[in-house]
Amino acid sequence: SETYCWVNASGVDLQDASHYPEFEQAIERVRAHPITAIPTARVHAVHEDITSTPIVSPAEQTLEVGRVVEATIDDVDLAIARAVAAWPTWMQVSVDARSQALEAAAETLETQLFDWAALISLEAGRTLDDAVSEVREAVDFCRYYAQQGRRLFGQPLVLPGPTGETNRLVWQGRGAWVCISPWNFPLAIFIGQVAAALVAGNTVVAKPAEQTPLIAHKAVTLLHECGIPTEVLQLVPGNGAVVGKALVRDSRIAGVAFTGSTETAQGINRALAAKNGPIVPFIAETGGINCMIVDATALPEQVVDDVMVSAFQSAGQRCSALRVLYLQEDVADGIITMLRGALAEWRVGHPWRPESDMGPLIDEEAARQIRHHIEQLLQTETLLAKSPVTNIPHSGYYIEPHVFGISRLDQLKREVFGPVLHVISYKASEFEQVLQDINESGYGLTLGVHSRIDGFAQQVFAKTRVGNTYVNRNMVGAVVGVNPFGGQGLSGTGPKAGGPNYLQRFALERTYTDNV
Ligand code: GLU
Repeated sequence: SETYCWVNASGVDLQDASHYPEFEQAIERVRAHPITAIPTARVHAVHEDITSTPIVSPAEQTLEVGRVVEATIDDVDLAIARAVAAWPTWMQVSVDARSQALEAAAETLETQLFDWAALISLEAGRTLDDAVSEVREAVDFCRYYAQQGRRLFGQPLVLPGPTGETNRLVWQGRGAWVCISPWNFPLAIFIGQVAAALVAGNTVVAKPAEQTPLIAHKAVTLLHECGIPTEVLQLVPGNGAVVGKALVRDSRIAGVAFTGSTETAQGINRALAAKNGPIVPFIAETGGINCMIVDATALPEQVVDDVMVSAFQSAGQRCSALRVLYLQEDVADGIITMLRGALAEWRVGHPWRPESDMGPLIDEEAARQIRHHIEQLLQTETLLAKSPVTNIPHSGYYIEPHVFGISRLDQLKREVFGPVLHVISYKASEFEQVLQDINESGYGLTLGVHSRIDGFAQQVFAKTRVGNTYVNRNMVGAVVGVNPFGGQGLSGTGPKAGGPNYLQRFALERTYTDNV
């Protein structure tokens, strides 16, 4: 088996409180110099005629973080035309030069870590902890795909053949690629998709989530400064119903990378299938109804720690987050009592304050959906625990974590993207049924297992259909190059982001046979 040397970005130690003033100063800097996100094709246009709309922080509705000029259908058309025209030249640029641009971007992200983290925190409501980890992940994506690009595409693969014949397998970009990214990792996932597509030899038209265009604009500006030509990477901020739809319906595009909801992925899949023209690859990373199975031998303290992080860090707004905790009935009461204790200590507050464990939900609609879900459960199910509402800021989309007892997994019809945990207590004799129910949900993203019995986790792994299984640890925060990430079924198409087989899907393989 092939091995290669890979080292993740080190980030900073947030246990060391001396970093907090640096972060606070970065927050002030970002607030003092608001960004306007703008379609790349229009950056040099005369600004007076352009209408922009405010981007307001989910942490404080009165705080305008910046402004966005949303792309029109004409902007999308122009961006694709430019990306298509730029591709033949970009494809000829060596993979080494493409990789160097990504590595230069990684370097800047690393040295300006707090400025990037501050913008993430202000625009997306992510805590200091989450925001710093996200910048590290962005650094890792740039460096990892640069390294993998060189490894995979640096040299043609020489293949055997009869005497006199040489055979070579050559990798090449596909054309103008569309990247559509979510607001929950507004920097890391945005730059990860873009970096993969670029290093594989494609030009890119990137649509960030409508909630987080500012960080995307800053990332695109950085990549341009690091040597990616402006026509090769273009931003088209705007909403999915207009900009996203126009992008995926266009017959000039060469592929789509999407991270977001299952429903949107299914819509894109239909749009791609319905149009004439080339058949293009579609990479989708979507949601999950992620479970954790805890047997009677698990260490309760560790379970509670891992459940708190998996279910409530990032306000549960990760596609990997824990939604359903299966507790073997003998240990259920004890663990629920400890969970209640942990929730009593859990602090919901301004994301840029170091003492906050959790910030707000992304917007009003997200908060409305979670409140609605909680109200419905309150009518029929048992509320097992929730964190106190004291000190929660009044302005901003904050919702305190809730834990409900439910009886069956199929009570959840779709992903619940917020700080709500559902607990099912099971008998040891029902174990096979639990695995079957998980498979029947149709989702297959992450799965947690807590057990000290040899073979228990392997049995779960063998019998379930999920992308990432985590044993005796939390189940979020997949690390680039270490925990390649992505699901199956309703959770996505693969390949795994941050894994050694991701880039191939963005590239074309060509065979060259020469009878010398
Ligand atoms: N890769 C992230 C994690 O492991 C989740 C990505 C997402 O939420 O889309 O937590």
